[in-house]
Amino acid sequence: MTSKKNDRTSRIPLIVANWKMNLTASESAAFAARFISQIQPHAEALGTRFEVAIAPAHPALDRLGRALEGSKIQLAAQNLHNEESGAFTGEVSLAMLEDLGCTFALIGHSERRHLFGESNDLVAAKAQRLEGSSVCPILCVGETLDQREQDATLAVVDAQLAAVLDATGDGLASQLVVAYEPVWAIGTGRTATPEIAQTVHAAIRKTLVSRLGEVGHGTRILYGGSVKPSNARALLSQPDIDGALVGGAGLDPDSFAELALASLETS
Ligand code: PEP
Repeated sequence: MTSKKNDRTSRIPLIVANWKMNLTASESAAFAARFISQIQPHAEALGTRFEVAIAPAHPALDRLGRALEGSKIQLAAQNLHNEESGAFTGEVSLAMLEDLGCTFALIGHSERRHLFGESNDLVAAKAQRLEGSSVCPILCVGETLDQREQDATLAVVDAQLAAVLDATGDGLASQLVVAYEPVWAIGTGRTATPEIAQTVHAAIRKTLVSRLGEVGHGTRILYGGSVKPSNARALLSQPDIDGALVGGAGLDPDSFAELALASLETS
């Protein structure tokens, strides 16, 4: 990396709320109204100095998308199926997400990996489905506490990244967002220190650059794991932390607005 500043400049901070299995469609509309009013004074910076996306549960995508219309706040999906369409009861396809105007989809969130048994191969198949589409993958990677204690963090994260990069090409590289989320920090109130997070982000950057060349310098790497307004600035000011994936603090419009606006101070 020759110019940290230039690389940072090309990586607009991205703050994403992951609502998980919370908030109904009606509640999502109320959230949007309050959140937009909080962000409004900085609306001119949205899309140029910071980006915000919200990933509601699938039943709220349509309603939330309508409530966000004209705001430049983006719609994200929490998951999708790797097949194009067919007999997959309970699943959601890429075409359905595109039709609703989603611009991002989470793939490989640790809850999908650990509670629903999603393998690196399945996550890679989902990345292949997204390649070249209008929906950018937010590829979640991260180690469990056991893996960290065994000093396996970088090996685990590298294998999760490699599975996707091996299965995809340039089409994915240009749209890829990575989220480093140590599993031990998700929903636990335990946050990686900015230094711990930066060490892993720098390793991810190194892998991205060695696999993707120049494009890897521009790939945004978000941090996730108990991010809240009080710790956001310290995390976001690290050179390779380009945004945040936020669970709990993304459920309250005031907290999420405060957190999103903190990214403006570090961009
Ligand atoms: C997440 O679910 O991706 C997450 C980071 O959750 P929390 O912020 O609640 O730890």
